[in-house]
Parts: sequence; structure tokens; C-alpha cells
Amino acid sequence: MSQVSIPQEYFKAGKIAGEVREAVRKRSLLGMSLLEICNFVEGMSRQKGAEPAFPCCVSINSTAAHYSALLENEYVLKEGDIIKIDMGSHINGYLVDTAITMSYNPEYDSLVQATETSLNAAIKAAKEDVPVGYIGKVIEDTAKSWGFKTISNLSGHSIEQYRIHAGVSIPNVWISANSKLKANTIYAIEPFLTVPEGAGYVVEGSAKPIYAMSSRKKTNDKKLDEVVDEIWNTRRTLPFTPRWYWDKFPKAELSKMLDKLVKMRIFRVYPDLIEARGGFVAQFEHTIVPTSTGAIVLTQA
Ligand code: MN
Ligand code: MN
Repeated sequence: MSQVSIPQEYFKAGKIAGEVREAVRKRSLLGMSLLEICNFVEGMSRQKGAEPAFPCCVSINSTAAHYSALLENEYVLKEGDIIKIDMGSHINGYLVDTAITMSYNPEYDSLVQATETSLNAAIKAAKEDVPVGYIGKVIEDTAKSWGFKTISNLSGHSIEQYRIHAGVSIPNVWISANSKLKANTIYAIEPFLTVPEGAGYVVEGSAKPIYAMSSRKKTNDKKLDEVVDEIWNTRRTLPFTPRWYWDKFPKAELSKMLDKLVKMRIFRVYPDLIEARGGFVAQFEHTIVPTSTGAIVLTQA
């Protein structure tokens, strides 16, 4: 494989996230609460030397993305569920993003298999100068060949230091875009597939599990400024969950302050995303670097 010139931290964070993902794959999650799963994933990444790049997402069944544990008394995973575990690790802001779907419902085993197959096909097709729309076509064609549809309004993305979505989208459907994959650039590829009865797109839910700072400003309110400083010092612009700050700020007060900071456009909130017709959704994701001969997968175990 040709040489790439990217910061070494990407390789280290990638190996850590890959190892955590494979540990999740081997473990039976049945009977664990979503909070326990988040703590397991985030804790293992920290233990291995990388902070989470974003709160571990544990999106169940027709919730496609962006749900992270919010309650002390969280849902407990049971037979009949499928769960997407989407995790990231970063070192000095150099971050990777990877996801897996675990099925505890035989009815959805083929949906899950088709999604992983779509990701593998996309990675095989990914190299320098390949149009991003072609990656979308490979994902869409693979999904269709298994009898499934892709979620058209969720996509992969380019990654930069401290920026998870750094401007370029890698679609999950064919689009005629001029943009091409570049060498020495980091991309996450993440097919989301649903059943034929699904709508094929997601809508926002009512949970607010994830926030990130969008612009750092003084608020003229000492307590709000304390929250802003704490987030800046611990996360910079990376996403966070209120759960990580329950020991610093009283829980009820914190959620009110976060709402205010969103209204002031200092933070933005990422609600959970739900399949519009309630179709169950599977997702797999890797972070890659294209080269002239193929893609290097950073998030291998
Ligand atoms: Mn992800
Ligand atoms: Mn991603």
C-alpha cells in the first residue's frame, strides 16, 4: 500500500476505536442498559489512551443515529432489538469514527449483513480520484441487490482535526457530484440501510443527547460562562453529552443552561434521528484514507 502523510495520531486513535468496536462485537449486550453500553465503550477508549471523539451513540431499532444515554435509568437491551453502536476516538483532536450494528432479532440478520457488505464494497471502491457519488452508487446498488434501501439523508463525511463533519459528504445514494476522494484526506464511510417498507430517510426525534460548541462567546452570565469554559477546556468543538458533566453541574440546572446556550447560538444540539416510517435501520462505518491504489482503513482492530 502506498505511503500516506497524515498525523500519526490518526493511526493510534484508529486502532483504539477498532479494538473497542471488536470488543463490543464479541460481547453479548442483552440485559445491558444503554448507559452501561455507553460507559463500556467510552471507558475502554479512555483506558486505551484516547478520549471519545463524540458521545457513544446507542441507537435502537428505527432510531438511526445520534442517541446517546441520557438517563440514569436507561432502556435495557432485549431480544428482538437491533442496536447501532457508533463510537469515535481522538488524540489531540485527530479523530476517527466507526460503527457496528448488533442484531438480537433473526428477522433483521440479513439487513445487518447487507449493511456490512455495502460498507465493504464501498471501501473496496474507494481510492484517490474516485467521485464521491460513485461511492454512493456502490452502497445503493449493494443495498438493492439484497432487497433493501439506503437512508438518503444520512451520509459519510470528511474529517479534520477537531471537525467530525469537515465539509465533504460521502452519500449513501448515487449523486452526480464533481467532488472526488483526495489522497491524505480522512473520510468516514457509513451506509445506513432500512427495510423496503421504510421511508428511506430520517426525521428529528425529541431527545437531545448530544451538543457541541459552535462559537465561543461571553454571555454576561457567570454560571453560563462557567459551562462554556468547562466545555471549551474539555471538548473544544467536539461533541459532548450532558451526562459527562453531571458531576460538575446539577443535572436539572445543566439542561436548562444548555437550552439557553443553544438559543444564544453558542452551542448547537443534535437531536436523535428516526426512520420516518419506523423501519428498522442498520449502520456500519469505518474511517479511511484513500491512496492511488486503494483505501487504508484506519479503524481496524
Ligand atoms: Mn459514526
Ligand atoms: Mn460518521
